[in-house]
Amino acid sequence: MTYQNYSLAQLQQIDAAHHLHPFTDSKELREAGSRVIAHAQGPYIYDTEGFELLDGMAGLWCVNVGYGRDELAEVAAQQMKELPYYNSFFKCSTPTPILLAKKLAELAPRHINQVFYGSSGSEANDTALRLVRHYWALEGKPEKNRIISRTMAYHGSTVAGTSLGGMAGMHSQLGGAVPNIVHVMMPYAYELKLPGESDHEFGLRAAKAVEDAILEAGADKVAAFIGEPIMGAGGVKIPPESYWPEVQRICRKHDVLLMLDEVITGYGRTGEWFAATTFGIEPDTITTAKALTSGYQPLSALLVGDRIANTLVEKGGEFYHGYTYSGHPVACAVALKNLEIIEREGLVERVKSDTGPYFAKALRERIAPHPLVGEVRSVGLMGAIEIVKEKATRERFSPEGSAAVTVRDHAIAAGLMMRATGDTMILSPPLIWTREIIDMACDRILKALDLAEADLR
Ligand code: PLP
Repeated sequence: MTYQNYSLAQLQQIDAAHHLHPFTDSKELREAGSRVIAHAQGPYIYDTEGFELLDGMAGLWCVNVGYGRDELAEVAAQQMKELPYYNSFFKCSTPTPILLAKKLAELAPRHINQVFYGSSGSEANDTALRLVRHYWALEGKPEKNRIISRTMAYHGSTVAGTSLGGMAGMHSQLGGAVPNIVHVMMPYAYELKLPGESDHEFGLRAAKAVEDAILEAGADKVAAFIGEPIMGAGGVKIPPESYWPEVQRICRKHDVLLMLDEVITGYGRTGEWFAATTFGIEPDTITTAKALTSGYQPLSALLVGDRIANTLVEKGGEFYHGYTYSGHPVACAVALKNLEIIEREGLVERVKSDTGPYFAKALRERIAPHPLVGEVRSVGLMGAIEIVKEKATRERFSPEGSAAVTVRDHAIAAGLMMRATGDTMILSPPLIWTREIIDMACDRILKALDLAEADLR
């Protein structure tokens, strides 16, 4: 690797001059310079200066098996030598996407047996949107094409992904969304629960917003509801237990398809292979990406339930949709090996019965009592910390989001990579985290909170 011939300042200067970054203010990037991560091993990432950080975000919610897995590099190299690429259009196929599809059908809930590949979560959601509309058209109901989503949802960054998502800032730059997508309230109890309302009641009220939207349009006009089981980028918003079963009941009652976006939660994060199992629901599609390869290769898989898949077969006709890299042989080879590692090391079970509960307890007992913390919450190895000025009143610091950025900067300086969304701190570490690493992360969070409090008060 030739980057060693460059100083950090040179890399930053070239980066700012030539590289437009995702979700980044280019002006700020020029002024501040990027943090250049140069290598990684196990749970740690290292910048060009050798500064070591515990990666509390598993890259971007994806490196579930941790860094430095030689097996994944080897299987990619072997596949590149054997067959680096061939397409899966026009009745062609290659071995690794075939075998991966079989494996995914085994891991997915029983009624899901088909897979459509892409390279990213955004692409997979484009596919999902087009597929459910295609399904209803095949069923002779082309007007049943409205999609219900939620405010603060994140479903990717393509035009369809942004339209499905409910991020106001993203919509403001869209200049015209995909038509016929509506957004209802999110199930975010911490901020939206009414005085005297229980979590259970709040979950039912948030689900009722889905039914209201169906009734408003007329069920014969609504194709599907889409949701992340736990809203990730929107701030690890965990719905009350009453929410998902009620949403599913409503969808079934009105014959509306249920689309689950498990780009973050898929492949073990919640202590099950899929959060559909965690929340006891049976979606018609599950969007997955990220941890499918632990981020070692770009790959997404839209898991398609029997109801839709059977109609495609029974009615026939081409689905005019696909990507050059759908079923990329190298990405699929890496995914197969990655899933083998997750299984062999029992990572999903470990999150469920050991590290997940330990993480929840550590957040509850060590982090929640801090004066800056309004609430902690987690499922498996996915957690959030709400930063507030006043615990009792839940009053936030102003301007909005500034306090969490202060905490995040101190956390990074203390050696823990975390993310801030609004005034919520987020953790979504590799599933290889042990109890000892969770303790270490909590030490660093507490240090960051103390330093932030001194800055903020
Ligand atoms: N859906 C969810 C829930 C996500 O969190 C993301 C990315 O973070 C996406 C979709 C988009 O995935 P990608 O960035 O691979 O396009």
